[in-house]
Amino acid sequence: MNIIIFGPPGAGKGTQSDFIVKKFKLFQLSTGNLLRDEIKKKTQLGLEINKEINSGNLVSDKIVGKLVENFLSNTNYKNKIIFDGYPRNLSQANDLDKLLIKYEQKIDLALNLKTDIEIIKKRITGRYSCNKCGKIYNKFFNPHPKNNNCCSGEFLNKRGDDNIDVAIKRFNTYTKETSPVLDFYKKKKLYKEINGESSIDQIYKEISDIIAVIEA
Ligand code: AMP
Repeated sequence: MNIIIFGPPGAGKGTQSDFIVKKFKLFQLSTGNLLRDEIKKKTQLGLEINKEINSGNLVSDKIVGKLVENFLSNTNYKNKIIFDGYPRNLSQANDLDKLLIKYEQKIDLALNLKTDIEIIKKRITGRYSCNKCGKIYNKFFNPHPKNNNCCSGEFLNKRGDDNIDVAIKRFNTYTKETSPVLDFYKKKKLYKEINGESSIDQIYKEISDIIAVIEA
């Protein structure tokens, strides 16, 4: 089963993907994470990507498309992918359709975590993660556990693009570029919407229920 998870930046796509990947034995394809890995390599390409991300823009379809094709062409992941943060515009949705045909795969579900800008502001400005294990936390909703050797001071890290101005820009980019993609999947009858403002546990339960029905 291949699933796409939509939602504005900070809606909880990464957090939910982590859970879903474990429960349903899927592999997460987070274009944001792949792009950040490229930045860590400190290549020329990484520097260009960093500039785009930190100004709240989308990275070019060509760069992102290459990362996605690398992932899709790996037979270990065939029909076991959760797409987190891709496709983000209509041209990427069309690219993905072509790649799915090329690698003989299909999308089974497009889930949208619908979330309002006011919640997004708190989610993004409060967000931090553990550099070592990758767990995502939030100062307002989900702080890291105390006395945890892994997720303690030295490994906690805030993303460069998680500040209020960039958050608003990213939300607006999402509304303009990504909202039309939702209609693309509505037309394919693959679209389901979830209230992204519910608790992490509630959202996880709703997503799990939807996937279980599809798997049955
Ligand atoms: P995310 O981790 O999904 O919030 O993505 C962080 C940033 O990476 C976005 O604000 C974009 O600048 C860039 N990015 C992630 N996925 C894509 C994509 N599919 N297309 C273009 N840019 C992307």
